[in-house]
Amino acid sequence: LFDVLVVGGGPAGASAAVYAARKGINTGMVVETFGGQVMETLGIENMIGTPYTEGPKLMRQVEEHVNEYNVDVMKGQRAKDIRKNEFVEVELENGAVLKTKTAILATGARWRNINVPGEQEFKNKGVAYCPHCDGPLFAGKEVAVIGGGNSGIEAAIDLAGMAKHVYVLEFLPELKADLVLQKRLATLENVTVITNAATKEIVGSDHVEQLTYVDRQTNREATLAVEGVFILIGLMPNTEWLKDRVALNERNEIIVDKHGTTDLAGVFAAGDCTDSAYKQIIISMGSGATAALGAFDYLIRQ
Ligand code: FAD
Repeated sequence: LFDVLVVGGGPAGASAAVYAARKGINTGMVVETFGGQVMETLGIENMIGTPYTEGPKLMRQVEEHVNEYNVDVMKGQRAKDIRKNEFVEVELENGAVLKTKTAILATGARWRNINVPGEQEFKNKGVAYCPHCDGPLFAGKEVAVIGGGNSGIEAAIDLAGMAKHVYVLEFLPELKADLVLQKRLATLENVTVITNAATKEIVGSDHVEQLTYVDRQTNREATLAVEGVFILIGLMPNTEWLKDRVALNERNEIIVDKHGTTDLAGVFAAGDCTDSAYKQIIISMGSGATAALGAFDYLIRQ
């Protein structure tokens, strides 16, 4: 029987495990792949106190940190269900059921891919998903943002302050972002909005050099000379297995309060799988710590 069982091994889950284990309580971790999204990140420049690091290096250090404590890490295991009886029960895909007094859900999220040629090939070589992370790399350069929803238009406004020119490509005939964002975008001189644009291919040699798209009205193909392509067509939380188990918002993010508490007694959540306003490593680590302290407070009151 665990006191705290963490599900997920990204920054949020690892931080929660360290904070829980430091209370001297029985802590476990169920992890599909240790490291989470950070493993896909090459340069990280916004871990405060560490001017530059790389995703795999950071997560190796994070894993070492977890291993300094007595945490039972079950790698290569995927949780598929959670329920509350006398204890919280987490069922794994291999059929095992783990019992715990509290659970911390930290299953993260994934950016929707656009699935065009070049996207995978140029990840970290011009193809990006996070303007807060990679925006400064494109200072003075021409970039494209794919996606005209709120996250795409926020990114375009953000990037316009650094990049030479920003092209926004929206598949539909009009942008989907809130009007206030669209109005703000319209005031920026170095932004061009292209609607009805179906992205066809991202092209380059060792880095992105061009993006081609098809104008869906004329069926004509066009090319933009850009060095960066930000793909912002949706962040999907890994919460499919939690539907009808804990309360999710309209974006399928787990709803938490300021202690990381969900609506299921003894179950907490942290990181990109929650309704946190922003999705970043440092924010996930902070919310993992919050959820672990929330779980500890809950335990000492039982
Ligand atoms: P994740 O990192 O998504 O980790 C989720 C974990 O849960 C993984 O271990 C996964 O295997 C596991 N898991 C999922 N489902 C299950 C299940 N059912 N059972 C068991 N385990 C499960 N942020 C920055 O601050 N700076 C950056 O420079 C930066 N660059 C980025 C670049 C890219 C390409 C991407 C995709 C993201 C970047 N981010 C960056 C965002 C950052 O990576 C995330 O905010 C952060 O990783 C979220 O941490 P998390 O622990 O909540 O989730």
